[in-house]
Amino acid sequence: MNTVAENICHVENNISSSCQKAGRDPKEVTLIAVSKTKPVSALMEAYQCGCRHFGENKVQELVDKYEQLPKDIKWHMIGHLQRNKVKYIVDKAYLIHGVDSLRLAEEISKEALKKGVTAHILIEVNLAGEETKFGVSAAEAEDLVRKISLLPSIQTEGLMIIAPYVENPEKNRQYFVGLHQLSVDISEKNIDNVNMNVLSMGMTGDYMVAVEEGATYVRVGTGIFGERHYETV
Ligand SMILES: *Cc1c(COP(=O)(O)O)cnc(C)c1O
Repeated sequence: MNTVAENICHVENNISSSCQKAGRDPKEVTLIAVSKTKPVSALMEAYQCGCRHFGENKVQELVDKYEQLPKDIKWHMIGHLQRNKVKYIVDKAYLIHGVDSLRLAEEISKEALKKGVTAHILIEVNLAGEETKFGVSAAEAEDLVRKISLLPSIQTEGLMIIAPYVENPEKNRQYFVGLHQLSVDISEKNIDNVNMNVLSMGMTGDYMVAVEEGATYVRVGTGIFGERHYETV
């Protein structure tokens, strides 16, 4: 098995070659090390390799790790966020990736206002129409963005997608192209208080294709830390 350091090096090289292929500057792409279920020691290995962006999908785990790890880490909440848990992470998450309803955005706005911070969020879009997944449709995205733009202490930065699990990453290219196009379409509406600079797309199986199609964040877990072992209680 490779070390975390070797894996990060490999992923970063792949990101660079995808950028080169697409005529992009690798500085436009930030690697998020998805560390869910992994121990603090593994995160520290990644930290020592220069990783400063980590992704977690559970509120409690993000908060625990936030408290134990260096303060210059930027924490990404990449999982589905329940409204009653927003208050625990609104001042700890650098970016909240999975916003897909006005009710959730309202709660984030309310808690951010209370804490005197601005919450930065991404709209999750479900382009493949998978029923098991969260996210709004492409048609609903603009309306949600407009409504969120009127709320205080919350700032939309762009879009996020969790593409289907596929063996062949080329099958997901259509969704990455689609998300990029949607962000351009929304951006052209020049809605006040809305940025469309961020595209969070691509995971271990398909991040190279996502980078070719414009990803600014890729979320890589297995490709850095190895397989996840979920405890069965
Ligand atoms: C777990 C997870 C990832 C990372 O998945 P890998 O296939 O292990 O790279 C990325 N994004 C989200 C939203 C996740 O939940």
